Amino acid sequence: VSRFEGITMAPPDPILGVSEAFKADTDEKKLNLGVGAYRTEELQPYVLKVVKKAENLMLERGENKEYLPIEGLAAFNKATAELLFGAENPVIKQQRVATVQGLSGTGSLRLAAALIERYFPGAKVLISSPTWGNHKNIFNDARVQWSEYRYYDPKTVGLDFDGMIADIKAAPEGSFILLHGCAHNPTGIDPTPEQWEKIADVIQEKNHIPFFDVAYQGFASGSLDADAASVRLLSARGMELLVAQSYSKNLGLYAERIGAINVVCSSADAATRVKSQLKRLARPMYSNPPVHGAKIVANIVGDPALFNEWKAEMEMMAGRIKNVRQKLYDSLSAKDKSGKDWSFILKQIGMFSFTGLSKTQSENMTKKWHVHITKDGRISVARLSSAKCEYLADAILDSYH
Ligand code: PMP
Repeated sequence: VSRFEGITMAPPDPILGVSEAFKADTDEKKLNLGVGAYRTEELQPYVLKVVKKAENLMLERGENKEYLPIEGLAAFNKATAELLFGAENPVIKQQRVATVQGLSGTGSLRLAAALIERYFPGAKVLISSPTWGNHKNIFNDARVQWSEYRYYDPKTVGLDFDGMIADIKAAPEGSFILLHGCAHNPTGIDPTPEQWEKIADVIQEKNHIPFFDVAYQGFASGSLDADAASVRLLSARGMELLVAQSYSKNLGLYAERIGAINVVCSSADAATRVKSQLKRLARPMYSNPPVHGAKIVANIVGDPALFNEWKAEMEMMAGRIKNVRQKLYDSLSAKDKSGKDWSFILKQIGMFSFTGLSKTQSENMTKKWHVHITKDGRISVARLSSAKCEYLADAILDSYH
């Protein structure tokens, strides 16, 4: 008898489990719209041309594979903080940002959660309802308490702004408020600049600490600066804040696990101390981060020609997603005789569209139409082609009505 007899079967992951179900589906019409990973119009994975160029340069230079320091590649850490805040930002100039390379967005969030657990005992993290499925797991495993603030309003398929503000106000003073910097996952609904100002007001009023998750910088609007506006708006108010970054989507480096955690402090001295503690937390967890993705990012950002090529490819990817959104909206509007207003699909931004399909309706999408989506009715538009929009519209309308 196994010593592991007491270990029960874990449930499949709500997002990655969709890919497993897709693999097992033998119908040729099947579509995988679960995971947020960009595909081409031909539904093939896409390696950015600029990434291949950077990798070729690295090969030519014959770079070694020695360990990075615990905090990661210095050139990457500098580049990533500057991309986020802007090189001229006072927080950068005054050396008030503690930046540590992380294992992509997830690992960077996890490191920040460990920092909260260790140095803010009893503090709570407020997360949006709904949010990216892994946020709850990350804080649970780090033993950090969390609760939800209202975000999505099913009546309007839009933002429940009053609910959001009320819940942030009602949270215990000094809570961490987890905010999606842009392209909210799973809803695709972002606050307007005016709403961000009001969010900043209540956070300041309550002495909360903003904690941004930026997984889509440049990928949402096509512009790196526009997608960092929320982070810059709050940092311009002189607040201390945390920002986790990921290069999975905007550089398509999913499997390279490259990202960072940035902690903006009110003094350079505090930033130095925070950084030393982030390193201390990282060392027993994974020792030091992988080098390949860090060098790709540093090489691209550090070379004006490659940097411009990256921006052009990001615009191309964001543009393709926008076109597919439009095509899906057109197909739904043309086919739906019920008069339902589908314009929310056009208003949402980023990789995903939140359709408002219930759990049962989402199951109908999979069972009857072989369209694999998460049970919350989220569709990964980044994995959809224009050619499949008509079929998808039929599936959605059949499931809805
Ligand atoms: N945060 C959000 C909101 C995300 O959507 C994702 C990717 N799905 C991540 C973080 C982290 O992804 P990764 O660890 O691949 O960078």
